[in-house]
Amino acid sequence: MNPAGNAATCGLNKVARRLLQLGVKPALSFFLKRILSLAFSERYPLHIREIERIAEILAGDASGYNELVHPWDVIAVAANGDVTTFSPDFMELRSPRYNNFCFGNILKDDFEGLVESVTLTTALHDISAGVELCKRQCQYFEVCGGGSPGNKMADHNSLDAAETLFCRLSVQAPADALTEFVSEIARASPTVRSSAE
Ligand code: SF4
Repeated sequence: MNPAGNAATCGLNKVARRLLQLGVKPALSFFLKRILSLAFSERYPLHIREIERIAEILAGDASGYNELVHPWDVIAVAANGDVTTFSPDFMELRSPRYNNFCFGNILKDDFEGLVESVTLTTALHDISAGVELCKRQCQYFEVCGGGSPGNKMADHNSLDAAETLFCRLSVQAPADALTEFVSEIARASPTVRSSAE
C-alpha cells in the first residue's frame, strides 16, 4: 500500500466531488464555446488541443483510436525496472488485484513473460469491459474511444467503469462547446446553412 498515494487520491476525489456539485462541465463548455466564438469573430488563430483533437476526428482527418486501452502502445518503466502499460498513471496507483499495475520487470523477465503476464490479462479484461460500458452508455464514445484506465481507477477504484471527472472535462465539455460553436456558425451563415440542407 502507498498511504501518500491513497491520501492524494482521496483528496482529489473530494475536489472532484466539489467540482461536480458546482456543475463544472457546463461552465467549462460555456467558457470554451465563448472563446471559440470570440476567436472566430476576431480571426484570431486560437488552438485548443482538446477541441482540435475532436474536430480532426469528426472531419475524418484522425481516428478515434485510444492507445490507453491497448497493451504496449504506451510503456512506462520505473528506475528499478518495473514495467507498466496502458495508462502511464498506473505507475502511481496501487491495487492488489493488478499487482500495483506492475506487469513485470525488464531486469528480471523476458519479453514473453511480460506479454503473457496473468495480471496483464486480468487488467486487459477489465479495461475492455470498461470500454464496452462506455460504448453502450456514452454519446461521446466515437471521439473518445473509452477514456483513460488510470482515471477510471482513481475515480471508481475499478477499471470496469465509464465516466470520470477527467473525461467530463477533457472530452465531453470540449465536444459540447465545439458542437454549439459549429451550430451557431451554421445558424449565422446562409451559405453553410443551405449547403447543410
Ligand atoms: S467520454 Fe467518458 S464515459 Fe464517454 S466514452 Fe469517454 S471515458 Fe467513456
